[in-house]
Amino acid sequence: MKKIYANDLKKHFGEEIEFSGFVDNIRNLQWVQFIIVRDSTGKVQVTIEKSDEKNKKMVDLINDLTLESTVKIKGIIMENPKVKMGNMEIIPTEIEVTSRSENELPFNYKNLDGVNLDTRLDFRFIDLRSDKNILMFQVQSALVKYMREYLYNNSFVEIHTPKFIGTASESGAEVFEVKYFDRKAYLAQSPQFYKQMCIASGFSKVFEVAPCFRAENSNTSRHATEFTSFDVEFSYIDSYEDVMNLEAEMLKYALEKVKAEYGDKISEVFGVNIEVPVLPFPVMKLSDIYKELEERYSYVVDESEKTDLTTEAERLVYRLAKEKFNHEFMFVIDYPADKRAFYHMRDSDGSLLGYDLIWKGVEITSGAQREHRYEKIVENAKNKGLAEDVKFYLEFFKYGCPPHGGFAIGIDRLTMLLLDISSIKETQLLFRGPTRLEP
Ligand code: ATP
Repeated sequence: MKKIYANDLKKHFGEEIEFSGFVDNIRNLQWVQFIIVRDSTGKVQVTIEKSDEKNKKMVDLINDLTLESTVKIKGIIMENPKVKMGNMEIIPTEIEVTSRSENELPFNYKNLDGVNLDTRLDFRFIDLRSDKNILMFQVQSALVKYMREYLYNNSFVEIHTPKFIGTASESGAEVFEVKYFDRKAYLAQSPQFYKQMCIASGFSKVFEVAPCFRAENSNTSRHATEFTSFDVEFSYIDSYEDVMNLEAEMLKYALEKVKAEYGDKISEVFGVNIEVPVLPFPVMKLSDIYKELEERYSYVVDESEKTDLTTEAERLVYRLAKEKFNHEFMFVIDYPADKRAFYHMRDSDGSLLGYDLIWKGVEITSGAQREHRYEKIVENAKNKGLAEDVKFYLEFFKYGCPPHGGFAIGIDRLTMLLLDISSIKETQLLFRGPTRLEP
């Protein structure tokens, strides 16, 4: 007997099949019992006629069955236009309870009115049972799959860099310290140095999808202390524009594919229409953005804040991108170099050869051409007072290293924006923040 998932049942009308899932609903009427059983791909009605003597054992079992138990059903899948759910039903010959749920759930995940987010996160394994959450992670998985696919199609190699590191690199701030036998180690804030090491080793094109750890004690809707970063680095570029172009192409490719596979479901469940972006993405200088935000929307900030986009300015950039370019994305360039990481390349006049990418009013990426010239990178590190801390990294550039650049996208943030979800706490499988380490 074939074990079939819900979304394949239609292909087996008239056949004897086996179906397993959670008990989603039970209707126990005078002459008939209906149970709705769901797996991760959908739901199906199981119909049991009470008057049929041979069903007696199943009828008794269902009289005693609790919602959210798991069952294994053997029976025939029948087409039935009268059944609203999928125009089909299973007529069972045998039902086995494979796991019995307690009667009362910690909260009703099907009706979240009055349920606070912390309760949902405390019982995340229940929260994740909702159709919406299951779809969210299927979409996230597809998004990452297609971003990966784009890179594989373009000869990138997927790497896996260590997350234990020996020195508090990059800035030292915002880094988690861990006990490592009789010494200290740190959790990687990003794979930046090791991606670049691979470039120096001659790998040409690399990427990694992995956790980053940041000891940021901030409680915003878009920050977590551990998040999944999609990190890309590649060689032989002429400019940071090559990096922006590759990123834009990759995002277009992935969004197009996600839309084809999940577009209808996403619009039905999340009310979001995925806009496949047109290439090239619009690009604006930071200073020009502030000028336009003031002219168009009377948004005025102090000069001292104009070294980066404020949260409100990021939000307004979405409006600007829509109104000026009819686009959801905007590359922002010309950030003051002194505010940026030392490994980003600077022009001969000192301006930064890097960018941020804003989508729907939130930063999703920082990218840049990297400094690959040994003397320059040493100088940059010295200027930031980091030369000793990053000594091992500086070595990478001593023995030949091609011009290169790259970027990083936070996957949890990307999912939040794709599906218009208000907080990263809901798009991480298990949120990690300053006050949340469980479950
Ligand atoms: P932000 O200014 O939003 O704190 P950042 O400038 O520190 O971000 P980068 O170090 O450039 O971010 O990281 C690249 C990308 O990684 C960001 O654009 C974002 O998508 C993601 N990211 C960074 N920090 C976090 C975080 N704490 N939680 C979730 N995602 C993050």
